[in-house]
Amino acid sequence: MNKQDITGIKQLLSTQKKIVIVPHKNPDGDAIGSTLGLYHYLLKGNHQVQVIVPNDYPSFLKWVPGNDTILKYDLQTSSCDTLINDADIIFTLDFNAFHRTGNMEDVLSKSKALKIMIDHHQTPDDYATYMFSDVNMSSTCEMVYHFIDMLNDKSLIDSNIATCLYLGIMTDTGSFRFRSTTSTTHRVIADLIEKGAQNTYIHNHVYDTNSYERLQLLGCALNNLKVIPELRTAYITLSQKELNTYNFKKGDTEGVVNYGLSLNGIVLAAIFIEDKQEGIIKISLRSKGDFSVNEMSRAHFNGGGHTNAAGGKSYSSLNATVEKFISILPSYNKALNNE
Ligand code: 5GP
Ligand code: MN
Repeated sequence: MNKQDITGIKQLLSTQKKIVIVPHKNPDGDAIGSTLGLYHYLLKGNHQVQVIVPNDYPSFLKWVPGNDTILKYDLQTSSCDTLINDADIIFTLDFNAFHRTGNMEDVLSKSKALKIMIDHHQTPDDYATYMFSDVNMSSTCEMVYHFIDMLNDKSLIDSNIATCLYLGIMTDTGSFRFRSTTSTTHRVIADLIEKGAQNTYIHNHVYDTNSYERLQLLGCALNNLKVIPELRTAYITLSQKELNTYNFKKGDTEGVVNYGLSLNGIVLAAIFIEDKQEGIIKISLRSKGDFSVNEMSRAHFNGGGHTNAAGGKSYSSLNATVEKFISILPSYNKALNNE
């Protein structure tokens, strides 16, 4: 995003606009934090602003300031379609290809609104007039902070904005420990705390809201953990039957894949989660060092993401998907053992 882009956006936002803000399907902490953070900021410019998410998100994200204003596309499709079709500007946050919004792909690709992308995933599509895309950023929330800063509006960051942005930086960096966490990330976090983000409150509301059943499900997942030491790989499976046994709710499996990666010497961790309703196996991949799970997911599992965190899906059975995963591992032997 250069000076000219910033001038253009400033000019654009100098008069009242109808603005829609959209994150990816199955929004996570960074998606909810960045969209609501930007929402509170744009409201200060007297714009008409609406956050529309493709579908529902976990209850541990439902305390965030502005949560009650969010519309869910899959539940309120026609009013969302109207808002999108009438919008002057659509901000797309924490994704970079319309297919990542699921059922919103069609209406978004047909929309005549000016698009502004703020995102940190690899290989962005070319749909946005203004593109703030940087794969080295810890999170979209950190980028929204820099975006507000570039517009010279840091003084407008209040406790609501600070809370939203803190949330997504925290969740996307694994609480400030992943490689994407820089000294700048910490400076941004320090500023957000000074502007009113209550770090302990935010952490407790995201990470300390487990139900007994969720912990039982975690126990089941850890029981299913398999290790392939010669390929420095660990993986977990969860069948639909197991999910049902522990009364699975959205978000219950969030972060479980990281337990595989916490094993000494493991470079690649995967989790395979059966979703009978969607007819897919949802795959999450995590890695350490330079081993790119983004590449692996793109090549084999209809997905993508970042070097050290990617997602994907498979239309085969749970067993067949795991067998495929095991069968491709030897071709990565060198990369896995180089770490
Ligand atoms: P998760 O495993 O937590 O679902 O996703 C890890 C990362 O990969 C996130 O940054 C997410 O946005 C990205 N990701 C997840 N699923 C997909 C997918 O199907 N396609 C692409 N391109 N990225 C994905
Ligand atoms: Mn993100």
